[in-house]
Amino acid sequence: MPKSSRPILVAGGAGFIGHHLCSQLVRSGLSVICVDNFHTGSFENIAHLEREVGFTWTKQDVTDPLDFEVSEIINLACPASPVHYQTDPVRTLKTNVLGAINLIELAERESCQILHASTSEVYGDPEVHPQTEDYWGYVNPIGPRSCYDEGKRCAETLLFDHAREYDLPIKVARIFNTFGPNMHPNDGRVVSNFIMQALRGEDLTVYGKGEQTRSFCYVDDMIDGLMALRNAPREMQGPYNLGNPQEKTVLELAEWVISRIGGTSKITFKPLPTDDPQKRKPAIEKAKADLNWEPKVSIEDGLDRTISYFRSRFFE
Ligand code: NAD
Ligand code: UDP
Repeated sequence: MPKSSRPILVAGGAGFIGHHLCSQLVRSGLSVICVDNFHTGSFENIAHLEREVGFTWTKQDVTDPLDFEVSEIINLACPASPVHYQTDPVRTLKTNVLGAINLIELAERESCQILHASTSEVYGDPEVHPQTEDYWGYVNPIGPRSCYDEGKRCAETLLFDHAREYDLPIKVARIFNTFGPNMHPNDGRVVSNFIMQALRGEDLTVYGKGEQTRSFCYVDDMIDGLMALRNAPREMQGPYNLGNPQEKTVLELAEWVISRIGGTSKITFKPLPTDDPQKRKPAIEKAKADLNWEPKVSIEDGLDRTISYFRSRFFE
């Protein structure tokens, strides 16, 4: 197949961010092959794309060797919710490390660019705030989050070593907490938990005192950021923080969700998970300058859109 007609391989394309990205790529007239093992993703997420000529999918685990003719690779394959990635930590580590090795080797065989979805978790429980890309992080190598944090750090190392040693074209995005329509309702992440709890009239489960902060990015902005990175000149390897610097405590988020949804829900406090980062906020000056990208949707607008989605999908 001539290179110009080969599809873009999106690993993890049936997941939350992945299916939004596949939709955007197909809307842009590009052909896509989604490779997913459907561990945390679902066929439902990509069903609307099946009608599109430029879209195909295949069920495959990225820990197994990959053999496809492709023009470009985007690697999103990995469960993102702490609940899921901690259920089988060895599998998470294998997905991050073996998955990265297999996809990098495919990129080398196909002589194509690979864009990798890394994470704010590479900064661990950060001592630098907001987090800049030149901060090396403060990560527990043996804790319950390590399978994800260290797996993502190792994948970054693999990418940059292949770029230096074999001149592989790489792009690395460090994604911060992202939310929006089509998040899995039961995947345990804070935004979907709070919205589903409030819509069911249950109490919202705040872990610890809720003083820890996160900075939440609406998914459309994240897709724009990933598209800007994939299109950027080759020397713009990153890593780039992609996220919304609007920072909130978890308690503020819970109170806001209750105030928007109304009802009788209150807040109930549960133990703080081990190594839960105390604060998180991206410095996005590098992405602004190099990619001409910054988020446009406020957390309040994004939450309203997400609440509407969950209400119409599960409660009407
Ligand atoms: P998600 O769990 O919804 O999607 C991950 C997808 O990868 C799923 O479709 C899953 O089935 C697939 N997958 C998992 N293991 C696989 C394997 N071994 N082989 C093939 N497919 C596999 O998560 P998401 O929120 O869409 O996150 C996508 C990527 O972005 C992940 O790499 C995640 O680490 C990164 N990220 C996300 C966030 C966020 O807030 N959503 C934050 C930081 C980083
Ligand atoms: N959290 C919470 N209640 C929940 C789920 C999560 O208080 O029902 C907290 C969690 O302890 C963390 C923050 O919300 O401090 C974000 O959690 P999430 O699992 O969404 O992602 P993380 O950023 O920790 O990977």
